[in-house]
Amino acid sequence: MDTGLMFFRFAVGALECVVVSDGQPEPPWEPSLEDYFPAVPGDVLRDACHGRSTLTCGYNCLFVSTPDGMAVVDTGLGASFLGYGEYIEPLVGQLEGGMTSAGLSRSELAAVVFTHLHQDHSRGAIWSGDVRFPVATAFAHASEVAFWSASVDLPSAQPHLEAARETIRLYGEKLRPFEYDTEILPGVRALAAPGHTPGHSAIMLQSRGERLLCVGDTFYDPLQLTNPTWSTPWDLDAPASIASRRHLLERAADEHILIHAYHLPFPGLGHVERRGTTFTWHPISS
Ligand SMILES: [Zn+2]
Repeated sequence: MDTGLMFFRFAVGALECVVVSDGQPEPPWEPSLEDYFPAVPGDVLRDACHGRSTLTCGYNCLFVSTPDGMAVVDTGLGASFLGYGEYIEPLVGQLEGGMTSAGLSRSELAAVVFTHLHQDHSRGAIWSGDVRFPVATAFAHASEVAFWSASVDLPSAQPHLEAARETIRLYGEKLRPFEYDTEILPGVRALAAPGHTPGHSAIMLQSRGERLLCVGDTFYDPLQLTNPTWSTPWDLDAPASIASRRHLLERAADEHILIHAYHLPFPGLGHVERRGTTFTWHPISS
C-alpha cells in the first residue's frame, strides 16, 4: 500500500487539522503483540486478543493550522529508516510525500511539537542530517530535553538516543522547552503525561468549544484500554505511564473528548468509553 497518499482532514472548531501518515506496516510486516507486551502471560494475552497475534502500528502525524501558522505534532520515522530491520525501510518515511499530497508546505511549516523525542516521533524532523522544516520553531517538554541531553544508560532508551540528540542539536536555539499546563501555540496546550518518557506530553487542541486530545504514546493498541495496566518495554517508568494512561482516558471518556492516538491504525482518531476501570475504543471511520 502506498501510504504516502494517506491523509485525513477534519476540524476542531476553527482549527483546521490534517492527519498525515508516515506509513503503516501491513501483514506480513505487522509487529507481534508478544513483543509489545512481554510481561503479560501468554495465555492471558491470547485470551485478550481473540485470535489476533499482531498489532497494526500507525504513525499518524497531526497537522493543525493555528493563528501562528501550521504546526505538526510528531514527525514519524523519516526516510531511509533501517532501525527496525530492512523490511520497514520502504514502508515508512512517507510524511513528506503525504504532506505534498495534502497541500502542506515543508518549507513554510511554522512549528514542530514533540510529544516526546523517541525516534519514531522525532527522526522525521532531522533524518537527512539537517532540519526538514527549516523555518519551524520546535517544542518539547523541558524534562524530555534534559533527559536525552544527559547520559542515558537505560537499555530500552538506547535506540532513540541518536535521533533525540540530533533533534536537540539541530534545532538548537529554535527548540523551546515547555512545562506542563502551558499554551505553547494559540489553541494548543501541553498536558502532563509522563512515564513513557520523563517529559512525555499530551497535547490538547481547543477552539470554539471543541477539543482534541493527542495522547502520543499513552497507548499503542486498544488492548491497553481494556487492560490499562499493560505496559510496553518502551515505557521507561511503567507505573507512571499507567497512571498517565488512566488519567487521560478517564478525562477523555468523562468529557467526551475526541482522541488522536499516534500509533493506532490510520488516522488514529476516536472516542473512548469508560466501563468501570477499563475502556473501549470507538474509532471514527476515515
Ligand atoms: Zn512512538
